[in-house]
Amino acid sequence: MTDLAFIPVFRPLLPPADAVAAYLRQADAARFYTNRGPLVRRLEQRLAAALGLPGHAVRTASSGTAAIEVAILAHAGPARADRPLALIPGYTFAATALAAERCGYVPHFVDVGPETWAVDPAALARHPLLARTGLILPVAPFGRMPDMADLARLSRDTGIPVVLDAAAGFEQVLDRPALVTAEVPMAISFHATKTFSTGEGGAILWLDAAGQDRAVQVANFGFRLSRECRIAGTNAKMSEYHAAVGLAMLDGFADRRADYARVAAAWRRLAAGFSLPGRLYTAPEVSSAYVLLWAEDETAFLALETACTAARIETRRWYEAGLQDQPHFAHLGRDAMAGTRAVGRRLLGLPMACDLTEEAIATVLATLHRAAAALPPARAAG
Ligand SMILES: *Cc1c(COP(=O)(O)O)cnc(C)c1O
Repeated sequence: MTDLAFIPVFRPLLPPADAVAAYLRQADAARFYTNRGPLVRRLEQRLAAALGLPGHAVRTASSGTAAIEVAILAHAGPARADRPLALIPGYTFAATALAAERCGYVPHFVDVGPETWAVDPAALARHPLLARTGLILPVAPFGRMPDMADLARLSRDTGIPVVLDAAAGFEQVLDRPALVTAEVPMAISFHATKTFSTGEGGAILWLDAAGQDRAVQVANFGFRLSRECRIAGTNAKMSEYHAAVGLAMLDGFADRRADYARVAAAWRRLAAGFSLPGRLYTAPEVSSAYVLLWAEDETAFLALETACTAARIETRRWYEAGLQDQPHFAHLGRDAMAGTRAVGRRLLGLPMACDLTEEAIATVLATLHRAAAALPPARAAG
């Protein structure tokens, strides 16, 4: 047992200290360390340029969670007594619902579809609680983007602001900048476990210039052109230190994406040689930070998960079986959550890294294959 190497589910690699240091020295020289300093503004400009979008389309934040909060406060404002609810998919990371709570909303969990792993905008447009809802907060799970026109229509038809948690969607937006709209602000995470990272950090992507001015104001205590707090705010500013990491990351990001593409291609190529009891999702269908196996049923899911653990291969139930079942959220309202629970018991996170070796991938695949072969024969044949 002890001779088996541990394979982590994700292994971040941020720019080396020397690459960051060149930018840090600029902060030293400027004696500017936060409060939208030159490095933050340059990072925002370079990200907007990389997307081919106007400069105001990108505003940074201190984390992805902070970016969700800022987008909510800038677009929907804090919750009002007559519309306290936020409709949020059960199948998401805790940050989504926590951010809504920090803005005063009471999450109400809605179900996701087994194909999209996301909410159905058409179903939300008929949701019975819309009259008490002040915010709709869909999620792009693992970077799988929704149809933004559907979300804009949902907002228009219901009159309820929609904010998208697209925390893992940075690459998808890079490849399709038209996803960024004026109607639906989206929040991106630059956490170390995401593909583009500043260590901790995030951004609001939004074409609404006045909205982005509000986002800047929200992120800086509600101040605007004075030290007077004028709207609900917080401190969600990215520091110059984190921006330095981001600028160094951006310098090497084309190479990084090529590395990820090679590993994702290796996953697909090597997986083709095995009969897996399920379907593999890799980039560009999902963010490069993830390789996901959609197991054919819960029995297979559990067998594969157990086999990996025994072989010292780390897997992850990224969003568990949904937030509605987690202790902090268990008392909150929810719809029937069959889709959320099914996805939670079928979607298995497998190891990924920009430098994951083909040998490691082959080890994981052989382990999955052996576990599948040991399943009851009627099912293993399927
Ligand atoms: C990563 C992630 C977040 C949180 O982002 P942080 O930068 O860690 O605050 C929120 N929602 C989803 C869906 C995520 O994947």
